[in-house]
Amino acid sequence: MLTRLKDGLKNFKEVTYKKHEQLYHELEQSQKPHTLFIACSDSRVNPERLINSEPGEVFMIRNIANTVPAYEVSHNDFTTLASIEFAIEVLKVKEIIICGHSNCGGCAAALDGQEKLNHLPYTQQYLKPLENVKEKVEKVHEHSHEHSKARLMEQLNVIEQVEHLKSYPKVQALIEKGELEVEGWHYDIKSGTVLVYDEETGTFRDSDEL
Ligand SMILES: [Zn+2]
Repeated sequence: MLTRLKDGLKNFKEVTYKKHEQLYHELEQSQKPHTLFIACSDSRVNPERLINSEPGEVFMIRNIANTVPAYEVSHNDFTTLASIEFAIEVLKVKEIIICGHSNCGGCAAALDGQEKLNHLPYTQQYLKPLENVKEKVEKVHEHSHEHSKARLMEQLNVIEQVEHLKSYPKVQALIEKGELEVEGWHYDIKSGTVLVYDEETGTFRDSDEL
């Protein structure tokens, strides 16, 4: 075991756990998270720290480039699908966040093109659906250079995944009943800023403005 991991476990047991002992006891038998957070696997993205949450608050899905399969092909990804199903049907979360981030390697790879991923066949296959987003990026970038292609790819990818999620009949029904909200976020690592997608204006806005 890496020394860093061993030290981390020791610190958790002796410091963190002791500090929150009561909370861990309360959480022993059940969880009641309010949010399902779908984030990239990137090590620089730390959702719990980002929203200052405690254990028991957030149910998490992490994968490369924070994706949700389109409803029509959802049977190809039971991992994500089962987690979404459990979160909304059993845990009854109130909100689902899809959170992209700056300098996303998955988005950059998708933007670079499939042919450069020949040495990573699983990644190549996995990122195939993002070809669709890449095409949108190229179109938008033709007319406006306000954002870099990388940033556009990350943000349009978030919008695409939000749309995928909203196309699931169960998600749709809960939104219509006012029992569930779905939001797209973009986290900028360098500035620590989180921008939230505003469907009405079609833009990403600072979370402080909402
Ligand atoms: Zn990423």
